[in-house]
Amino acid sequence: MNKGFLTVLIFVFGILSAQQKAYYQQSAKYQMDIDVDAQNFTYSGNQTITYTNNSPDELNVVYFHLYWNAFKPGSMMDQRVQNQGKNGDSRLQSNGVSRLASIPKNEEGAQNIHWIKQNGKELKFEIQETIMKVVLATPLKPNSSTTFTMEWDAVIPQQIRRSGRNNREGIDMTMTQWYPKIAEYDYDGWATFDYVGREFHAPFADFDVSIKIDKDYVIGAGGNLDNPSEVKGYDANANPKTDNKNKATWKWTAKNMLDFAWAADRDYTVDSFTVLDGPKVYYVYQKSDKTKFWDESKPHVTKFFQLMNASFGRYVYPSYSFIQGGDGGMEYGMCTMILGESRSLEGLVGLMVHEGGHSWNQQIMAYNESMKPWMDEGFTSYYESIVMHQLFPPTEPTANPFVGSLNGYRNFVKRGIEEPAVWFGDHHDNGTAYSFASYVKGELFLVQLGYIMGEQHLSSTMKEFYNQWKLKHPTDRDLMHIAQKISGMDLKWFQNYWINTIKTIDYAVKEVKYDKNSTTITLENKGQVPMPIDFSILTTDKKVVNYQIPLNMTHEWKKKDIYGDFKTLNYWPWTQKEYTFTIPYNKSQISALGIDFSQRLADVNPEDNMVEVK
Ligand SMILES: [Zn+2]
Repeated sequence: MNKGFLTVLIFVFGILSAQQKAYYQQSAKYQMDIDVDAQNFTYSGNQTITYTNNSPDELNVVYFHLYWNAFKPGSMMDQRVQNQGKNGDSRLQSNGVSRLASIPKNEEGAQNIHWIKQNGKELKFEIQETIMKVVLATPLKPNSSTTFTMEWDAVIPQQIRRSGRNNREGIDMTMTQWYPKIAEYDYDGWATFDYVGREFHAPFADFDVSIKIDKDYVIGAGGNLDNPSEVKGYDANANPKTDNKNKATWKWTAKNMLDFAWAADRDYTVDSFTVLDGPKVYYVYQKSDKTKFWDESKPHVTKFFQLMNASFGRYVYPSYSFIQGGDGGMEYGMCTMILGESRSLEGLVGLMVHEGGHSWNQQIMAYNESMKPWMDEGFTSYYESIVMHQLFPPTEPTANPFVGSLNGYRNFVKRGIEEPAVWFGDHHDNGTAYSFASYVKGELFLVQLGYIMGEQHLSSTMKEFYNQWKLKHPTDRDLMHIAQKISGMDLKWFQNYWINTIKTIDYAVKEVKYDKNSTTITLENKGQVPMPIDFSILTTDKKVVNYQIPLNMTHEWKKKDIYGDFKTLNYWPWTQKEYTFTIPYNKSQISALGIDFSQRLADVNPEDNMVEVK
C-alpha cells in the first residue's frame, strides 16, 4: 500500500468516525387551526408541519403519536392496567378495576386522521392504536426539510389520566397529548413507544396554534398568548371578538418546546406575577375556598424559580403557567397541569416545585424519558428535595435534604420488589418499583455522586451539563463524561451498579481496638456495591475529625467536600472485603466514630455504621 493511499484512507476514516459521533437533533414547526365543539367535547383540526431532518440518515417513513386512541376499553393501556392489577397505577383503577374498561362509547378518546400529505402529495399511513406510521412519497434526505399537511378530528376522552374532559375538580377540558405529534428520531432510532400511561419523548418544535372555542371559555396554556385583548381572562380591558357562532379565537405561539398543552374552563381565573430575573408566572385555576393556597404560594414559587436559576441554570422561556387540570400533576412545555385542591400550602408548593422543576429536567434538558425515566424524574426529585428543604425547613434539623428519600429507599428495598432503574418507564412489572427506580434511585444517583466526588464537583458538573446541553437531548453518557472530566475520577462502575442493577450498598464497623495512644478500626463491606468511605470521629471535646478511604476504582480521590476537611487514607481495593486502619486518638479522646457522618451514603443497613464509645 503506498503512503498516499494510506493517508487518504486515514482521512476518510477520520471523517466517517467524526460523522458517527456528531450530535444532531431533528426539528419541527407546527402551524395548527383548531375548532372546538365544546358541547360535544370534540374538535376538528388541521396542521402544517415543517419537519427538518438533521440526521445523517435518509428517512423513508415518519411516525406520529395519537395518544388519545389509548382512552378506550380494550386498548393497550386498558390491557396493561388489567394485567397489572393491584401492582399497577391506582389512578387508572376504581376499586381495583380498570377505569378505561368502562368508558362509554361517546366518551372514548379518538384522533381520526382524514388525510396527510407531503408537499401536497397524499401519503399512505397505517395506525397501530397510538402510533401512526406514514410512508413518505419522497424520501427525506439528510439536512433537508419537508412539509406535512394533515386534517383530523378528535373526541376528548373521559378524564382517566392527564388528558380529558370533566375531571373530578370540574375542569372542562385538559388538552394534553391532544394533537397528532411527530415522533422523535435520533441516534436510538424512532421513539415509537405505544402509549400505555407513562413518559413522552419528542423533537424540539415551534408552535403557532389558533384555537376557536365558545367565547365563555378561558384557556390556560404553555406558550405566549398573542391576542389577550380579543379573548376572556387575560386583559382587564379586553373586548372579546366573536364569530357568528359565538366563538372567540385564541392565538398561541411557543418556540423550542417538546409539546404544546392547554386546558379550557368557563370558571377559570387568571392571576399573574413576574419573577425578578425569571419568567412571568400565570396561575390559571378556579378560585374558591378549596384552592385558597394558590394565592399564598406566590412568594414560594418566586423563590423556587430563583433557586433553580442559581443552582442549575437559567429558565429559558418567557413565561410559565400553573394550570388546574388533569390529575395529580404532569409537566409540559412552559406549563403544568396540576390538581388545584390541596390540604396544605406545603402540599401545593411541593407539587408546583416538582412539576415546575421538570422545566429543567425534562423540557430544557430533554432526556428520552421513555427509556431513562430515572433522569427526568430522579433529577427533578433531587432539586425538589433541595428547594423544599429551603422553602419549608424541617422542624427537626436533618443532616441533608435527602434523608427522607434515603429512608424511603431503605424501607422499599426490604420489600424485595425492586426493579433496575435502567428499565423502560412503561415496562416495569410493578408501579411502585417504577416509582422507586425512577424518582428515588434517580435522585439518590446524584446524592451518591455528591458523596463520591464532593458536593462542589457535583454542582460544577450539573452546571456544566446544563451549559452544554440546554435545549438538547442529553443522555446519561453525556452527564458522566462531564462528571468524570470535572472530578478526574472513573465513575462508570458506580453508574453501572446503581442504574443497571438492584445491588445494594452495605458497610459496617466490624471491630474497634483501643491502644494507649491510638485506635485501630476494621470496616467491612457486607454489600454488593463498593463505595469510597467517609469515616469520622467525634472527639470528647466535640470536634469532628474526618477521614476519606478512597475506592481504588475511581483512581482519583475526592479533593474537598462541604462537610469539612478530611485526611485521605490508603485506597480500598473493591475486591477486598475488610479494611483496617489506625488513627492517633485513644479511647478517652473519642465519644463516637463511624461511617458517613453526612448521612448521604445509601447504605441499606446504617445501624452498624456507628459506634458510640463509652
Ligand atoms: Zn415528575
